[in-house]
Amino acid sequence: MSVTTAADAAYLIAALLFIRALAGLSKHETARAGNFFGIAGMAVALIATVVLAADERINTLGVALLVAAVIAGALIGLHRARVVEMTGMPELIALFHSFVGLAAVLVGWDGYLSVERMPFGHEAFTFRAVGTYGIHHAEVFIGVFIGAVTFTGSIIAFLKLSARIKSAPLMLPARNWLNLGALAVFAGLTTWFIVSPQLALLIVVTVLALALGLHLVASIGGGDMPVVVSMLNSYSGWAAAASGFLLNNDLLIVTGALVGSSGAYLSYIMCQAMNRSFLSVIAGGFGLEAPTSGERDYGEHREVTAEETAELLREAQSVIITPGYGMAVAQAQHGVAELTAKLRERGVQVRFGIHPVAGRLPGHMNVLLAEAKVPYDIVLEMDEINDDFPDTDVVLVIGANDTVNPAAMDDPTSPIAGMPVLHVWEAKQVIIFKRSMASGYAGVQNPLFFRENSAMLFGDAKARVEDLLRAL
Ligand code: NDP
Repeated sequence: MSVTTAADAAYLIAALLFIRALAGLSKHETARAGNFFGIAGMAVALIATVVLAADERINTLGVALLVAAVIAGALIGLHRARVVEMTGMPELIALFHSFVGLAAVLVGWDGYLSVERMPFGHEAFTFRAVGTYGIHHAEVFIGVFIGAVTFTGSIIAFLKLSARIKSAPLMLPARNWLNLGALAVFAGLTTWFIVSPQLALLIVVTVLALALGLHLVASIGGGDMPVVVSMLNSYSGWAAAASGFLLNNDLLIVTGALVGSSGAYLSYIMCQAMNRSFLSVIAGGFGLEAPTSGERDYGEHREVTAEETAELLREAQSVIITPGYGMAVAQAQHGVAELTAKLRERGVQVRFGIHPVAGRLPGHMNVLLAEAKVPYDIVLEMDEINDDFPDTDVVLVIGANDTVNPAAMDDPTSPIAGMPVLHVWEAKQVIIFKRSMASGYAGVQNPLFFRENSAMLFGDAKARVEDLLRAL
């Protein structure tokens, strides 16, 4: 069997392992196995790629450099994965997407320059059908475009998620026309490049796509960032697939398509959950108006102590806990799990209500609660639990804010208007664990804090949950 055939077989196995990984990752119970399949698939793919390259294309020095790059990359990746805080995951993922985008740009440029370097320039292709020649140029151009949009878009997402820049949407005048104009120019330039592949056109499309990626993500507001992250995930997949076509690498095409389509589907599901139009989000907040609601006076808020909260819980029959980003920051999940166990021992019905975008990445709360060994069957999705709040005695809002904001339903001028939220205010009593009256990720005030049946338990969520445990 030739090395090429063996590598093709290995690529097929890797592709199947990636599909198994995706299937595994879709459920809590099988997520660990899914992760394992993904790692195995990537190991097979890397080994096959290095062996194939050594056999066909590069000399010993090249192989040594390739292996050194793989080892250095793996070590940096391992280190980052070990030290990253759960709350830092989304920004790390955004950064990874930017690398995929950059790689696609470099592969595209290399694809162009290596053809230019051939002894007779473009004539080297004359023996091929004109169609093949055009397809190669289209692959270069489209790959560079998607890669560059992904690159700058992901960098802006990284900066917004890590709070290095403000998450408010950039509202340039005629911004929708800027985006549409950039797409029209790209379509025109692609046709031109296929007919006459000039370096100047490649430079122009690279700069255009870098600017478009920057503008697309900068125009999307805080509350829509979850969709942006999964959308950039999808773009990075398509960028990888475009590189696969250029490099004639089937595995890259399959993997890119898997990432591209699953990312697009995740974005679609998240848009549905957030009641946002998919097209408007991917078009950089198309049709979004600048928010008009200013700071309103909602009156006075009420404060409680951990002891008073313990008193309330002692008398409660049913409790719902709605965690949010603050629980992740405080790492309060273990205390929350202990509190749950204690209340359940006393015969209280305790359940969790999980908003689809609570925290800073899809499934963030589920992962934390699973880590703290909270039973899966009491962790319910928003839609499964939203009708049960009127029959609930106490709701504990632990570090959540935007996901429990009634303004999303009551105030059409709110920047988060229309986003479905957990109806916590319908319960008899709501206790909100947070450190201050500060707003959440979307930067909007939360009228929940001023309702008559709400009370604030100020302080770090972990410390307050521990106080509560002691008081119980
Ligand atoms: P929010 O970001 O709306 O609010 C979190 C709250 O936690 C803050 O108001 C903060 O208040 C409080 N908090 C922070 N640290 C602590 C601490 N140590 N102890 C106690 N409280 C703390 O969280 P939600 O989960 O409700 O909403 C998620 C938001 O993030 C949504 O707007 C969503 O669109 C966005 N987003 C979600 C992503 C996802 O994929 N899930 C990705 C990107 C963005 P204080 O400072 O007063 O303590």
